[in-house]
Amino acid sequence: MGKIKWGILVVIMTVVAGIFFGLINEKKEFSDKEFLFDTYCTITAYGDDAEKAVVEAFSQSADIHSITDGFAENSEVSEINSAKAGIAIPVSDDLAEILTTVTEIENSSSRAFDSSIAPVVLLWNFGGEGRIPSEEEIKRAMAYVGDGKIVFDSNKKTVMKTDDNAKLDLGGAAKGYAGDKAVEVLKSFGVSGAIVDFGGNILCFGENPKSDDGKWRIGLQKPFAPTGEYDEKNVVELSEGAVVTSGTYQRYFDKDGKRYHHIIDPKTGYPANQTYSSVTIVTESSLLGDCLSTACFVLGRDAGQKLADKYGAQIIFL
Ligand code: AMP
Ligand code: MG
Repeated sequence: MGKIKWGILVVIMTVVAGIFFGLINEKKEFSDKEFLFDTYCTITAYGDDAEKAVVEAFSQSADIHSITDGFAENSEVSEINSAKAGIAIPVSDDLAEILTTVTEIENSSSRAFDSSIAPVVLLWNFGGEGRIPSEEEIKRAMAYVGDGKIVFDSNKKTVMKTDDNAKLDLGGAAKGYAGDKAVEVLKSFGVSGAIVDFGGNILCFGENPKSDDGKWRIGLQKPFAPTGEYDEKNVVELSEGAVVTSGTYQRYFDKDGKRYHHIIDPKTGYPANQTYSSVTIVTESSLLGDCLSTACFVLGRDAGQKLADKYGAQIIFL
């Protein structure tokens, strides 16, 4: 064989070897979707143990859902909600962790975030067809809402109600906590990178093998547009963190030409009346981001920005 032919053969073999090693070196991807927290949750992870990691992350998310679901008969939240006043109810470590951040944000937001909002939220029936409660109904339910109605003792890890009718609603925080836990599990399996999307709560870490620089780009949902649609100017770029959105489009109903959404102003008992449709918080923890996004939605642009600044979080109103 002449020198040129040998040369061509070497080039071909180099290319074939490159493709072969490239393929076996390519990060294994595993992605799955489950219906939890009343929404579709997706996890995509990369690495040899990606599948095992995603399965375990979903298993722990399902556990957190079954603790915090106020509509499930035997959940911890349901037990608290049906308990009488004056009884100290021990809570699990998971619930204690959620309530620690919830209490912190209730205090720092002047209770714009209020986990005792359940009696009012239930009247609006956002989980079903939706209905407009009468002023009288709202007034009555509001009497069970507010500071001191449900007292969390972080040292004893107990919850005590001071009113039989007081009820917890962790709809604005539980998904966020589950996202943080999912990331913890994925990291413990040594995955090289992952993106977790729990209906408006997005978390990512490690390397994104689908981008040139390994970073993650998260397009912020355009309110009321088809799911997944976003404007190019509203893309958050990050290596690791949580991007959490509270939006009116996530749960609402229309009646007599008016739109009623699920983020309630605890001062009025009515949907928070704002000029924007969503608030996105970019921060390290999605539990913190979840509480902040709901709180800041209620607070409005100025007070919302101040609260986000206090926690070193980025805030975007759309
Ligand atoms: P998010 O989508 O995180 O903003 O949470 C909204 C959910 O939290 C609602 O569907 C209610 O279950 C609950 N919620 C509504 N208003 C509030 C509020 N002001 N504080 C705390 N939770 C709320
Ligand atoms: Mg929230």
